[in-house]
Amino acid sequence: MVSRVRTCLFQHGFGYVWQNQYVHNEPLFIQQLKQRLKDEYLQTWNISVNQSSILCDYRLCQSSPFDIEKYVSVLDLRKFRRAYVTFGMGASKLEVHTGRYNNTPANNRLCRLCHMEVEDAFHFLLKCSSFIDLREKLIPRKYTDTLRSINSL
Ligand SMILES: [Zn+2]
Repeated sequence: MVSRVRTCLFQHGFGYVWQNQYVHNEPLFIQQLKQRLKDEYLQTWNISVNQSSILCDYRLCQSSPFDIEKYVSVLDLRKFRRAYVTFGMGASKLEVHTGRYNNTPANNRLCRLCHMEVEDAFHFLLKCSSFIDLREKLIPRKYTDTLRSINSL
């Protein structure tokens, strides 16, 4: 246990505390150590999420591992939360996700319906021509209008 404390202090830049066996201001030291551990965890989390090809949709909606994801309060039905997590974690039935299992190159994971683009969550939800009718019924116009104006640039 003692060696773990020593290792932790040295790993996170507080080796002088171990060597001196003393801190001048204990509450301040504890606050600084907590902040350092939190910052280093956040940095590691950011690197791993940003380098993961699987979590490409997840990083769009989650900016910190310390925040409660908004979907928890916004999506009140369990099946919607489950679908959202499935998209975010790269475990959906979309080609962008299933293509990993049969080694299809990422740029060849085309939509099975329109064959125009890679079938990812953005294409499936907001762009695929096969779902225009459903989109008009289910997604408020302000979102689809914004997308149309972006696409026309
Ligand atoms: Zn499509």
